[in-house]
Amino acid sequence: MSLLAAMSSSMDERPDRIRIGDRSASPPRLREWAAAVADDLHGTDRVAIETTPTMETVVGVVGALLAGTAVVPVPPDAGPREREHILRDSGARALLVPAGAGTAGTTRGGGPAADGSGLPVVPVDLRRTSATRHPEPGPERTALILYTSGTTGAPKGALLSRGAIATCLDGLAEAWRWTPDDLLVHGLPLFHVHGLVLGVLGPLRIGSRLHHVGRPQPERYAAAGGTLYFGVPTIWSRIAATPTAARALRSARLLVSGSAALPTAVFDGLAALTGHRMVERYGMTETLITVSARADGPRRPGAVGLALPGVRTRIVDEQGRDLPADGTAMGELLVAGPTLFDGYLNRPDADAASRSADGWFRTGDVATIGPDGWHRIVGRASTDLIKSGGYRIGAGEVEEALLAHPAVREAAVVGLPHPDLGQQVTAFVVADGVTGAELVDFVARQLSVHKRPRVVRLVDALPRNALGKVQKKRLVEG
Ligand code: ATP
Ligand code: MG
Repeated sequence: MSLLAAMSSSMDERPDRIRIGDRSASPPRLREWAAAVADDLHGTDRVAIETTPTMETVVGVVGALLAGTAVVPVPPDAGPREREHILRDSGARALLVPAGAGTAGTTRGGGPAADGSGLPVVPVDLRRTSATRHPEPGPERTALILYTSGTTGAPKGALLSRGAIATCLDGLAEAWRWTPDDLLVHGLPLFHVHGLVLGVLGPLRIGSRLHHVGRPQPERYAAAGGTLYFGVPTIWSRIAATPTAARALRSARLLVSGSAALPTAVFDGLAALTGHRMVERYGMTETLITVSARADGPRRPGAVGLALPGVRTRIVDEQGRDLPADGTAMGELLVAGPTLFDGYLNRPDADAASRSADGWFRTGDVATIGPDGWHRIVGRASTDLIKSGGYRIGAGEVEEALLAHPAVREAAVVGLPHPDLGQQVTAFVVADGVTGAELVDFVARQLSVHKRPRVVRLVDALPRNALGKVQKKRLVEG
């Protein structure tokens, strides 16, 4: 079956099925625009695209997928260094650019890009249509070269096949009861799994309506009247702080959070305002989405749910020995299954390091798995598992304890090097009207004494990336 099954077969001419910002299209119209791009790309193996949240970006991506060309999404606000890294590392042969856009780094369509990359520009022009039916490439063909968020180092290019993407979307359709009757609403960036794979390719495979609201603002989410909503914890937190917007989501069917841990306070706040217990799901660029709560099952704050269909998970200690799924043992989460990537581009070192001796993918995240199969993500092995005075402390638990204080708006906990303790629990907190000492006491009243932060640093903001992930590496490095 076609990767974009619903778009390829849909005869639905209603022009409001796919709406990106203020531009709408029916699936057949989208296909005609995309086929014109595919005609131009034919024979190109890799193409980069600057992923502004526009209809042109969706048409460019779909056009490349029709042509069997691997898509390399570039963040629209990538600095020159990141942009150059992605364009060079990916080996992209051309750059898809909206016709007449004349963005900073490019010419006005046709000719080479003026951004120093020298890549030829292929314009995406919504005045052009084509009726060509491009033959569907096999499921093993690379669909996307997605760059990881770069939270722990330089972004790495992950090769994702058409088959892995299709399988992941089908698993999510089942888990979330996602159907053509849904209207999906989100405002996610289109250069990662969340916004692009789930948020754009999802509706085109499943056949649901899509409304991308441009910028992820609470008011825009509220006004869109969706049945299904996607967001990262930072937008859910802002919606929880905007009661009028949150109450407008009462009529939705399902609210889904992912890309980083959803604080319990936000889960509870939204449950009170919207009447919905959020579905949280867990995934990575390299594995796509592997674990999720279900539409017709329980939702638990602080937990990401059950493995998706076909996905296997286990946890291991630092020597790679299996740990029990007893809900208590914390170990590195390993995953296997049909949604895994085909390796990193140009990074044999990272490829080798990412596989266990028996071939499972090492997520680098620490988790617990309960006897009922429910997963809790403790955090990243590199920054969120703090080893202090012989104890192993999950940063997330301390962050939750801090966030329970009404004056605390954001919290990030890391282990900083310490001569006696090995690492010292250190909290970076955004708060008004509270002292560090008060917060230490506040945590000490909730958790074992060794878990309380030894140092609290009050800061104006936490360093975050486009998906709202806290860049702890920057905190650790000072
Ligand atoms: P890099 O790999 O370049 O350092 P990154 O790991 O942030 O960056 P992504 O692939 O975008 O890049 O993010 C995957 C990570 O996001 C996971 O490994 C996990 O740490 C985190 N994550 C995703 N969903 C959740 C969730 N529901 N709860 C907690 N963490 C999550
Ligand atoms: Mg990663």
